Amino acid sequence: MEKKKPACGLCGRTSNLTKTDCCDNWICDDEHKYVPFSYEATSCSRNHRRYTLCSFHYNERHDGKWQDCEKCKEEFDLEDYVDMGTNEFNFEKLSNPPKISIKCVNCGFKSNSMNDFAYKTSKGMYCIKHKCQKKAMTF
Ligand SMILES: [Zn+2]
Ligand SMILES: [Zn+2]
Ligand SMILES: [Zn+2]
Ligand SMILES: [Zn+2]
Repeated sequence: MEKKKPACGLCGRTSNLTKTDCCDNWICDDEHKYVPFSYEATSCSRNHRRYTLCSFHYNERHDGKWQDCEKCKEEFDLEDYVDMGTNEFNFEKLSNPPKISIKCVNCGFKSNSMNDFAYKTSKGMYCIKHKCQKKAMTF
């Protein structure tokens, strides 16, 4: 009889797992492999810890579920809030994320999905168009 092995809830790997403090899910224990300044999502645990409301909410010791938390909402710009609640580093995503409209500061493109944007600088968001990404990098 084979027992179902635990797997990382984000990428499905089954080795080197640990449990998240915030939500008790299996996740890759790969933090040490992270390469600074690489844009590859090499670390599931790091990504979940740094880029999700789940972990923020836990670390700030807010009450209740992060999905219903007003404090979390106040803590971030709306687009960051929505991104942190719906990005692929979440085990459970916001079911009804507030509608947002983000504008690329370089070309004026508008969208309500963070997936259409590649960079955020102090000037604002840059979309995924090549010329806009390039602009953001040289900023
Ligand atoms: Zn993983
Ligand atoms: Zn979590
Ligand atoms: Zn919270
Ligand atoms: Zn653009």
